[in-house]
Amino acid sequence: MAALVIGHMNPDTDSITAAIACADLLKKLGKDVVPAAQGEPTPETKFVLDKFGLTAPQVVNDVAGKDIYLVDFSDLAQAPKGMDSACVKGIVDHHKLGDVTTAAPLDAWIWAVGCTGTVLKNMYDFYGVEIPKNIAGAMLCAILSDTVIFKSPTCTDADKKAVEALAKIAGVADVKALGMEMFKVKSAVDGASMHDLVFRDYKDFDMNGNKVGIGQLEVVDLSLLDNVKAGLQAEIAKVKSEGRHSVFLLLTDIMKEGSEMLIVSDDPSVVKKAFGVEPKGNSVWLDGVMSRKKQVVPNFEKAFK
Ligand code: MG
Ligand code: MG
Ligand code: MG
Repeated sequence: MAALVIGHMNPDTDSITAAIACADLLKKLGKDVVPAAQGEPTPETKFVLDKFGLTAPQVVNDVAGKDIYLVDFSDLAQAPKGMDSACVKGIVDHHKLGDVTTAAPLDAWIWAVGCTGTVLKNMYDFYGVEIPKNIAGAMLCAILSDTVIFKSPTCTDADKKAVEALAKIAGVADVKALGMEMFKVKSAVDGASMHDLVFRDYKDFDMNGNKVGIGQLEVVDLSLLDNVKAGLQAEIAKVKSEGRHSVFLLLTDIMKEGSEMLIVSDDPSVVKKAFGVEPKGNSVWLDGVMSRKKQVVPNFEKAFK
């Protein structure tokens, strides 16, 4: 039975393209693996897959009894069902180390860089395996997405170097133009349900015993969300009522480089504690905040201690 290479819940472009790339590399190293994803691709990811002629991985929500490789996460809160009886053979990631444990040795490539795609580029190089042109293009887009076209504080020189090399392989002349094209696709919210928008890029965290959900929508102009803000606020209240202490939704303006955060919480004072700014009603503008991973999760973890 082939092992699965699988990314986090509510898959983003990185977790899907990383599954495709990592499965390609492992196959070329002689392993029996297939890429998988915990859900369908978002419009942004669809754009990337279509652009480079790749197909979406099979959707898998239960990994009981399977051999698995994790990409783009190592938190059980973002894992599929059946982790108790799955065997984690490897992890390729760029987040804080999560709570996944293993009974046997594993290959772990966890780097403090902006994207799993960057780690994978270096893995291909390490093993001396050539990156296929279409997969290089998809990895390149994942790095542009995760680093918000190099603007996120999570972006490192290693990410920029990887993009440069991948662009050559993929034949992409203007990476910033490609990034903007992708973020315009990502900014389109017309026709999507409030539920879909909240969960498009959403993660649950365990913060000192409290279940805390944090979602993020990245747009090229916040005014694009004016018509849906009230609906989003109502939707996160619903999500909170399903057994969570808090749900926060970051509405990130990638041009203004900051986020409006919608808030619903049993204890709204955690927001002031985490960011030092007083919310106005149930939202707050966080200047310069673009990264959930680097600027939001650590602050909340401290505030919940
Ligand atoms: Mg991700
Ligand atoms: Mg990522
Ligand atoms: Mg992201």
